[in-house]
Amino acid sequence: QTIPRNLAQTAVRFPDQEALVDVAGGRRWTYAQFHRDVRRLATGLHRFGVRSGDRVGIWGPNTWEWVLVQYATAELGAILVTVNPAYRPHELAYVLRQSGISTVVAHPGFRSSDYPGMLDEVHDGCPELRRVVVMGTSAWDELAGADADDALLDGIGERLDPEDAINIQYTSGTTGFPKGATLSHRNILNNGWFIGELLGYDETDRVCIPVPFYHCFGMVIGNLACTTHGSCMVVPGPVFTPGSALRAVEQERCTSLYGVPTMFVAELGLEHLGDIDLSSLRTGVMAGAPCPAPTMRAVIERMNMAEVSICYGMTETSPVSTQTRRDDSFERRTTTVGRAGPHLEVKVIDPATAETVPRGTPGEFCARGYSVMKGYWDEPERTAQAIDDEGWMHSGDLAVMDEDGYVQITGRIKDMVIRGGENIYPREVEEFLLTHPDVLDVQVVGVPDETYGEEIMAWVRLREGAEPMTAESLRAFCEGRISRHKIPRYVHVVDEFPMTVTGKVRKVEMREESLRLLD
Ligand code: ATP
Ligand code: MG
Repeated sequence: QTIPRNLAQTAVRFPDQEALVDVAGGRRWTYAQFHRDVRRLATGLHRFGVRSGDRVGIWGPNTWEWVLVQYATAELGAILVTVNPAYRPHELAYVLRQSGISTVVAHPGFRSSDYPGMLDEVHDGCPELRRVVVMGTSAWDELAGADADDALLDGIGERLDPEDAINIQYTSGTTGFPKGATLSHRNILNNGWFIGELLGYDETDRVCIPVPFYHCFGMVIGNLACTTHGSCMVVPGPVFTPGSALRAVEQERCTSLYGVPTMFVAELGLEHLGDIDLSSLRTGVMAGAPCPAPTMRAVIERMNMAEVSICYGMTETSPVSTQTRRDDSFERRTTTVGRAGPHLEVKVIDPATAETVPRGTPGEFCARGYSVMKGYWDEPERTAQAIDDEGWMHSGDLAVMDEDGYVQITGRIKDMVIRGGENIYPREVEEFLLTHPDVLDVQVVGVPDETYGEEIMAWVRLREGAEPMTAESLRAFCEGRISRHKIPRYVHVVDEFPMTVTGKVRKVEMREESLRLLD
């Protein structure tokens, strides 16, 4: 079977199938209509001055306009820069300048943020920024309402090369300042296609996508897996709530539901979960952060998602490198991130020597193949640190691969604690601490220590009604049950952990705060 090379081919194969539904916005498109509207917007953007290779920023939450802009810029060969809706002026200015954005399409703002206002604020510091269009204004209507110029667009399409950049996506910034991963048509279109293949998508699938579009999870695992298979993209709305996501599944009879682990945890926690009709669901994707086995089991058993898949990857690899498959055992589908996707190579190395470690030994996960990014935008040095001379992308993640190629992600190298010369994997300590009856959730970080180099601090979220927790009481619980060196020296009780919008715990911030606490 050949990959539909572009949206046009899907539109020809499945003209009357639904392509896109924006539930909150109350709008829907068939593939024929969607393709037509994408071409109109592409023509409008071209008249507006957007050319191949130009960086076009899209700044907003999940709405139908976002999806149109994604595909319209692709038609033009422009490079879509996906701007995180949570950014404040400082981060916005950085991304606008760093990627040299000349045109921004912005949402009017949500959650009390005023996007046009923030763009005004940073405009002077961003000399390349020339054009701003706000969705829902007459300027937007003019762009989106242009008559499609087929001769123009077909001519551009013929000149496009699969290796051309189509997208700059800034990484989540979990471990530091975000980096602009530059991805090509070939990178993301193939990744989207293979993900959809392994999920068994076809034109009867309807995929509920509450995960952010500005991240690969939304725009590749979501949108591109759908449009390469004639499946329908169902967008519940701009703000994730567990109720609105599941209502969208019910109303739209979705067959697949996506989420980062915290979204599924919130859905499973809904009091009226049993009253929502999830009988249409078959599959889905959990990804983006460690996927706890109990959450996976609950999703399979209580949300009717027998075939749910865990995907693992990073923005730099378009994103998916490994994925669990429909025919994997229940055990592997709940406890591993699967094995390498088609046409990809993966390995686990000793970060010190770069030698591949024996199966079963922890080391750094690396991936090579079609999905590896072109590089970090305008940052050759950081690119050379991430991708080695043989084309391997070094993930910075710790992994263990078994004899059959199934991978478990055990943490990030940067988060590893070295106490008295012993490597301590936070994930292992966290999993043990979770067995404490009062612990709702826990994260451990290393803090500097004169004697041991590093000591462990546990950040704990307590269950309602729990006894107050002290370092002494937690240590007493650990005594005799885990090795001495893994027992936390300090405890810090909190209501919430600092999180990225993509659902990842920001350990960098926790380490900084831990230092202040010890001062
Ligand atoms: P930055 O690179 O800016 O520090 P980030 O690495 O969090 O941020 P992303 O590219 O969005 O930015 O996330 C990729 C990372 O997410 C992976 O390197 C991995 O640590 C984590 N991750 C993704 N999927 C999974 C998964 N299924 N299980 C465990 N971790 C995952
Ligand atoms: Mg990263």
